[in-house]
Amino acid sequence: MSDELEERIQTLAQWIYEARNLVVFTGAGISTESGLPDFRGPYGMWTRRDKGLPPKPMMRPWESVESNISHIAVKKLQDMGKLAFLISQNVDNLHLKSGIRPDLLAGLHGNITKLRCTRCGKTVKKSAGLFSCQCGGKLVSSVVNFGESLPQRDLGLSFEHSQRSDLFVVVGSSLVVTPAADMPREALRSGARLVIINQGETPFDRHAHLRFHENIGEVLPRAVKILKRLMGMFE
Ligand SMILES: [Zn+2]
Repeated sequence: MSDELEERIQTLAQWIYEARNLVVFTGAGISTESGLPDFRGPYGMWTRRDKGLPPKPMMRPWESVESNISHIAVKKLQDMGKLAFLISQNVDNLHLKSGIRPDLLAGLHGNITKLRCTRCGKTVKKSAGLFSCQCGGKLVSSVVNFGESLPQRDLGLSFEHSQRSDLFVVVGSSLVVTPAADMPREALRSGARLVIINQGETPFDRHAHLRFHENIGEVLPRAVKILKRLMGMFE
């Protein structure tokens, strides 16, 4: 690892250590190391669609997809009491699978393993095999498709926490879709530091206080390890 990268990771760890309201924002990039396709990367679903190609077939069955070291690094932030809130564009359930507390997570685009009540907005596991909610409302897929409105609770909480954050860390999102792109803007407006860990460019690159183009798995777990030391915790 280059000294220069090591230094940036040190800075990230230091900033997380100093943060009182850390908000992490994740996109498809955090899950690519679990074997899920990215959307905007060179082999991403949308890139392929734009070229008229079908999506790459899933390498393995959905249920066998596991959280990777980067999901686990975010979970460790929660365990260390450093994670104020997690906003995710991913529907893959891998944050919850890694042990993230549901009350600390906003899933902007829903969750592939869950159904949502069209009347009260409550979500239930798809595997429960229910068709209607306790309130009598109809249960439908919780995954938000293009053009559909986002879940209000998740959206509201995301804005609230972005505005309150003093450190906003983007992980694996190109920040091109709104309202995703509105969150870092809210954070910056409130004076937060902005860190972006994403291989491709983002419209916020010139506003970022710290920028990583490296693999997420190369950066985040290492930063958490350094943070542990800063907090006087040992493995
Ligand atoms: Zn209901």
